[in-house]
Amino acid sequence: MQKGTLFIISAPSGTGKSTIVGELLKRDPNICFSVSATTREPREGEREGVDYYFISRKEFNDMIASGGMLEHAEFCGNMYGTPKKAVFDRLEEGRDVILEIETVGAYKVMLNVPEAVSIFILPPSLETLRHRLEKRGTDSSEVIERRIAEAEGEIKKSRKYDYTVVNGDLEKAIEDISLVMKASKFLRKVNKETVEGVLEKC
Ligand code: ADP
Ligand code: 5GP
Repeated sequence: MQKGTLFIISAPSGTGKSTIVGELLKRDPNICFSVSATTREPREGEREGVDYYFISRKEFNDMIASGGMLEHAEFCGNMYGTPKKAVFDRLEEGRDVILEIETVGAYKVMLNVPEAVSIFILPPSLETLRHRLEKRGTDSSEVIERRIAEAEGEIKKSRKYDYTVVNGDLEKAIEDISLVMKASKFLRKVNKETVEGVLEKC
């Protein structure tokens, strides 16, 4: 069976990545979401084991020490990390896996899993980003300011990603990312094994 593809999706907080990823999951049952562990407090409506595993700092550090994290990073004072086993189990089953992670963790995955495909979602402007964070209404104004400050640094790192998509019109952004995910299956770093098998017969 052909293995699934690992996708890294990053975007400054408030750009719309959770909204977009939620739609991608609804539209393609072969895609699954890597549920991260975090030390952040749950937001209203967030579910344990669905949106995140909400754990203590001690539990987080124990997971790192036992080699259970594919990557981890600190963001705005909280720890976030990707539990490794679930990701590789799903890829072995032929499922595509989305890591919705910030840029420090994303760089680590790019280095350790070079065949992973990376997509950066940009907001149309920082002003739009601020409006979206305010409209979402889940963070205090102090947290919004911290997230905007982080956004400027994160946007600078977008050049390292394989693809960049702007989330202006939501439906267009979802379609663009779907297209990118399909096209990336034909990248040499993704389909090398299959193509080498065919090349032997050519
Ligand atoms: P992120 O996961 O990147 O932090 P969210 O998916 O929570 O961002 O989106 C932030 C807010 O912006 C939400 O209220 C969402 O409904 C809204 N949003 C997302 N995409 C768009 C868009 N293209 N146009 C307008 N609002 C959007
Ligand atoms: P939020 O608190 O808004 O849910 O997430 C804050 C940031 O942490 C976002 O950029 C989000 O993509 C990122 N993030 C979520 N899970 C992980 C993870 O497992 N690892 C890393 N490195 N970042 C993550």
